[in-house]
Amino acid sequence: FGNGKAGGGGGLVVPEIKFTKLFINGEFVDAVSGKTFETRDPRTGDVLVHVAEADKADVDLAVKAAREAFEHGKWPRMSGYERGRAMNKLADLVEQHADELAALDGADAGKLLSLGKIIDMPAAAQMLRYYAGAADKIHGESLRVAGKYQGYTLKEPIGVVGVIIPWNFPTMMFFLKVSPALAAGCTIVVKPAEQTPLSALYYAHLAKLAGIPDGVINVVPGFGPTAGAAISSHMDVDSVAFTGSAEIGRTIMEAAARSNLKMVSLELGGKSPMIIFDDADVDMAVHLSTLAIFFNKGEICVAGSRVYVQEGIYDEFVKKAAEAAKNWKVGDPFDAATNMGPQVDKVQFERVLKYIEIGKNEGATLVTGGKPTGDKGYYIEPTIFEDVKEDMTIAQEEIFGPVMSLMKFKTVEEAIEKANCTKYGLAAGIVTKSLDIANKVSRSVKAGTVWVNCYFAFDPDAPFGGYKMSGFGRDQGMVAIDKYLQVKSVITAVPDSPW
Ligand code: ADP
Repeated sequence: FGNGKAGGGGGLVVPEIKFTKLFINGEFVDAVSGKTFETRDPRTGDVLVHVAEADKADVDLAVKAAREAFEHGKWPRMSGYERGRAMNKLADLVEQHADELAALDGADAGKLLSLGKIIDMPAAAQMLRYYAGAADKIHGESLRVAGKYQGYTLKEPIGVVGVIIPWNFPTMMFFLKVSPALAAGCTIVVKPAEQTPLSALYYAHLAKLAGIPDGVINVVPGFGPTAGAAISSHMDVDSVAFTGSAEIGRTIMEAAARSNLKMVSLELGGKSPMIIFDDADVDMAVHLSTLAIFFNKGEICVAGSRVYVQEGIYDEFVKKAAEAAKNWKVGDPFDAATNMGPQVDKVQFERVLKYIEIGKNEGATLVTGGKPTGDKGYYIEPTIFEDVKEDMTIAQEEIFGPVMSLMKFKTVEEAIEKANCTKYGLAAGIVTKSLDIANKVSRSVKAGTVWVNCYFAFDPDAPFGGYKMSGFGRDQGMVAIDKYLQVKSVITAVPDSPW
């Protein structure tokens, strides 16, 4: 981001922002209403830039373009190999622009610049390449149909896909949904979160450079109840892929049911347990569990927000976790020494602080942190509570901030029961040297991903999604392509069959 200028009054680096309009049918355009909205820099709370604001009329245009590209365009008709080549080109472009893109997410979402370059952007490119490789391996099955018939299944792209994503991982969320949909041969309308629209618009531009035809990827920044609802209730959208809160997931499912019964997949919130057994290496357990809750300032659906520690190592764990939390350096996400940037916006900042107050009022003990920090922007100290009970609000509700709830347990059975004592089921962490404990607990926790002696170990080949109210459908893995495919059975009579 060589053209960046210092801004925000505090010598902050602000990247150059090139794309602020809607991207529809291969062109950057103003909103039909001419309206724009502000996206703010969470380091200061200042306005970063104004972005065109999509509403229903714009979503209609985007869906029309996507429909035209689907029914008459090249993309669904070209070979999987050719689609894969274009996706590989897009992956190359993402890598080539990684610095600039990491800076955009940094200024828009408060994400660490250093990690954006080495985690988010390479992971986005990897996701694209994984599904680029899958694009020419999508095939049906031959069927045994009784009698004088033969049968096979055809996998066809589902059509126009609506993608509605949150602000915590603007880049990864975009490619988690868009990559398998592209591989399947679908056309897409993406509504990025209103807090973080900038990198998605940049990806639209790169997709055009990569030769992905006009109308295949459309990006319509705007608000949930307007642009988002226009997608989920649209009569001509065939499927909606959503990541966000359980509350909005429900709204989207209702809208899908009330309109055209479009297919829905939901990746929702979590209250993931991190379970640490007596035989664990305490230093490693502390490292993993602080990472699990403070990484990306706790703004991650799989955050290990409930930490269960077995009684034998509990006291040592609490002492060391408090020290570790104090070592997480909170500050400007563009500073290479920073471990934790600001919460994404004022709403989240206040929400997290409200939960901290609730935790204190409900009788949890504050071990460390608990306060805002810095003289401006949305920074919060890494926070740990102990003496948390399962029925407390901070043990049940997703805080989406750097707040760890610590609980003690005695037996493996008790740990399993407590770990499952939540409406969510997205992820779980286990720290133990015992293979038997690890296996038993892995099979017993109701969660879509279980990490044993690690956390946040992601791979494009590992399906990702939730049990219970964490949603349904999977991102990642070959299984994710199914969300973007129809299965058609073709049965043909064979009158002269010899058998
Ligand atoms: P978070 O709590 O992480 O902000 P939300 O579930 O509120 O998550 O938002 C995730 C995405 O859903 C965002 O892109 C947001 O604009 C969108 N959204 C919010 N409300 C609606 C709605 N009523 N219909 C469709 N999309 C919505």
